[in-house]
Amino acid sequence: MSYSPYLLKGQKALVTGASSGIGEAIARYLALSGAAVAINYHSEAESAQKLVDDIKAANGEAFTIQADVSKEDEIKAMFSQTLEQFGTIDILVNNAGLQKDSPFVDMTLEQWNRVIEVNLTGQFLCAREAAKEFLRRGVQPHISSAAGKIICISSVHQVIPWAGHVNYAASKGGINMMMQSIAQELAPHKIRVNSIAPGAIKTPINKSAWDTPEAEAKLLKLIPAKRVGDVEDIAKAAVWLASDDSDYVYGTTLFVDGGMTLYPDFIENG
Ligand code: NAD
Repeated sequence: MSYSPYLLKGQKALVTGASSGIGEAIARYLALSGAAVAINYHSEAESAQKLVDDIKAANGEAFTIQADVSKEDEIKAMFSQTLEQFGTIDILVNNAGLQKDSPFVDMTLEQWNRVIEVNLTGQFLCAREAAKEFLRRGVQPHISSAAGKIICISSVHQVIPWAGHVNYAASKGGINMMMQSIAQELAPHKIRVNSIAPGAIKTPINKSAWDTPEAEAKLLKLIPAKRVGDVEDIAKAAVWLASDDSDYVYGTTLFVDGGMTLYPDFIENG
């Protein structure tokens, strides 16, 4: 990996759910690009600490912070601690998420509520705390042309319905409207709020969909680019959205999906 350590120099970032998968890669790439990074984790303290050690070994700055993104008191404490440690915050990556899959008629209220409270309410709680600090501090032109950046990790399922995953798809559809509404409200303050919608990316969340040749072949039918995505594909997009290179990008969802949202069945049909 080679990345410019000057792109995000002097900026402070917080990545939720950064102890694995996409969040971990985003944290690594933000650090490679010069940002100091708060590594939020829920239960995987060891992996989070390893990530901090790796970042520090590469002359970066990072620390771990435990919090459940769905708990308001824990999120307030996480932001207080981050501000104490870093002085301020410039970049929030709302990445933490989970699935609790079930056929619709068997889905319990607990399965529905847990996915909504982590994937959607968690992003709301973190975005609100970050926005308060962005508004308090305003633009520091020597650091960034924006007062702050929020990147919401959504999914292609913010637009593609997903049988058996109604709670997950609803949470991601909700992220889209939440992101756009926050983006509209905060744009006059030079706060940029955007989403990344990953397609199928190899991480623990969807291991069964790609970890055998048969499963991968089935998945590739949905991907015109004929490649399952890597976490780095998402991390690179996140660095761009966090940087001033995307200065005029507000309220957009960047689909990083190998063409999954291009109705691949129409390649040989319709
Ligand atoms: P992952 O399971 O590796 O990562 C999810 C992370 O969220 C984990 O580190 C987990 O500990 C954390 N988390 C879960 N509940 C939490 C809570 N209550 N508080 C704090 N952290 C919590 O899977 P991933 O694929 O890296 O997922 C990251 C994001 O990307 C998720 O929002 C997911 O919906 C989204 N996404 C992934 C894919 C994919 O193909 N992998 C596709 C589209 C969207």
